[in-house]
Amino acid sequence: MTSSTPYDVRDAEVIVVGSGLAGMTAALQLAPRAVTLITKTAGLPGGSSLYAQGGIAAAVGPGDRPEDHAADTVAAGAGLVDAAMAALLTRDGAAQVRRLLEDGLPFDRAPDGSPLLGREAAHGAARIVHAGGDATGRTLVSALADRLRATPSVRVETDAFAVDLVLRNGRVCGLLACHGQGWVLHRAPRVILATGGIGATFARTTNPAEATGDGLAIAARAGATLADLEFVQFHPTALAVDADPVPLLTEALRGAGALLLDSEGHRFMPDEHPLAELAPRDVVARAIGRRVAAGEPVFLDLRPALAAKPGGFPTVLALCAEHGLDPFAESMPVAPAAHYHMGGVVTDADGRTSLEGLWACGEVACTGVHGANRLASNSLLEALVFGARV
Ligand SMILES: Cc1cc2nc3c(=O)[nH]c(=O)nc-3n(C[C@H](O)[C@H](O)[C@H](O)COP(=O)(O)OP(=O)(O)OC[C@H]3O[C@@H](n4cnc5c(N)ncnc54)[C@H](O)[C@@H]3O)c2cc1C
Repeated sequence: MTSSTPYDVRDAEVIVVGSGLAGMTAALQLAPRAVTLITKTAGLPGGSSLYAQGGIAAAVGPGDRPEDHAADTVAAGAGLVDAAMAALLTRDGAAQVRRLLEDGLPFDRAPDGSPLLGREAAHGAARIVHAGGDATGRTLVSALADRLRATPSVRVETDAFAVDLVLRNGRVCGLLACHGQGWVLHRAPRVILATGGIGATFARTTNPAEATGDGLAIAARAGATLADLEFVQFHPTALAVDADPVPLLTEALRGAGALLLDSEGHRFMPDEHPLAELAPRDVVARAIGRRVAAGEPVFLDLRPALAAKPGGFPTVLALCAEHGLDPFAESMPVAPAAHYHMGGVVTDADGRTSLEGLWACGEVACTGVHGANRLASNSLLEALVFGARV
C-alpha cells in the first residue's frame, strides 16, 4: 500500500473468486495460467463444499448410464431442466469422477478398488460416490486444496472480500476486493465467480455463514443476466434444533433405509408419493413442512440406515452428539431448511455469462441443469464439471 493511492494494484491472467469445489477446480484446470484465487474465508478450502455429506452423483456403476442419470435429473427438475445441459452434466460428470478415482482421490471403495455407491432420492440407480462415509465434501476439497497449494501458477489470497467488478467499455477488466490489510484492485481480463449460494440469507439454513449471495450481487451490479432466483431448494431433513447452520441429516440416510415418522410413529411418505422416503426432494420437503407448520413434529428414524451401513455416517453421528441426541436410542426431530439455490448468473456450457470477460461456475451459476429442483448430489457434480469447463 502506498500513501499516494488508496489501494494496492495486482495483475493476473485470471481471477477466481471462491475456494469451494467450483473455484478450486477452475483454478487447477487453468494451470499454468497465472491465476489469483481470492476467498473471503480465513483459509483454504471454504464454502458449502466443506459441508457436503452424501456424495457426488455419477453414472460410474455397472449397468448405469449417463443417459439414465440425465433422465432422473430432468424428471426431478419440475419441467424446467435444460435437457441438453443435463446430458452434458451427466456425461462429463461420469468422466470427471472416473478421472478423480483413477487419480487416487480418497473415495470409499470396495476391496477391488471400485467405488462404493450409495442411493439417494429420485435416482433410479445407486450412483452416489462418497468419501469418509458422509464426509464427502471435506475429504474431496481438502485433497484439492493440497493440490492447489502445490500448483505454482495459482496465487491464493485468503481473507479477501470481492466487492465489485471493474469494467471498461462494457468489458470486465478487473475486480475490487477488500483484503485484511486494505483495498486491492486486481487487474485481469477474465474473472470467474465461484461464490456459492445464498442459504445464509435465510433464518434456518444448512449453509455456512459465508453463503450470502455476494457473487449474484456483484454480477447484477455489473449488468450480467441472472435467472431463476426464486428457485431455492429446502432440504427436507435438517435436524430440528436451534443452531446456525442447522445440522443436515443427509439424504443418503433415507437411501440406506431411514424412515420418516409422524409424532405417533407412523410413516406418512407412502401416502404422499409412490417413492415414499425416496421421492424428489421438493415433494418430501413440502410433506414435512406442511406438518411442521401445523405444529406436528416429524422424526427421522436413522436406525435402519445405521444398521445397514455401520460406520457409514460418522458426520451425522457427531452432529447429533453435539446436540445431545442419540440416534441409536430414538428418532431425530427434523424440519426443512434452506439448502441450495438453483437460480444464479446465467451461463452457457462453458461458464460464459452475458458479460464479456465474466464467467461463473458452481452454485452461483444458473446453467439450467437443475430446473426448479436439484436432484440430490448433482451439485458437487455441477461444480466439478463446469469448474473444469470455464
Ligand atoms: C450441509 C450441506 C450438505 C451438502 N451435501 C451435498 C452433497 O452431498 N452432494 C452435493 O452434490 N451437494 C451437497 N451440498 C451442496 C454443495 O455442497 C454446494 O452446492 C457446492 O459445494 C457449492 O460449491 P461452490 O464451489 O459453488 O460454492 P462454495 O463451496 O459454497 O464456495 C463458495 C466460496 O466463495 C467464497 N466467497 C463467497 N463470496 C465471496 C466474496 N464476496 N469474496 C470472496 N470470496 C467469496 C466463499 O468463502 C467460498 O470459499 C450440500 C450443501 C450443504 C450446505
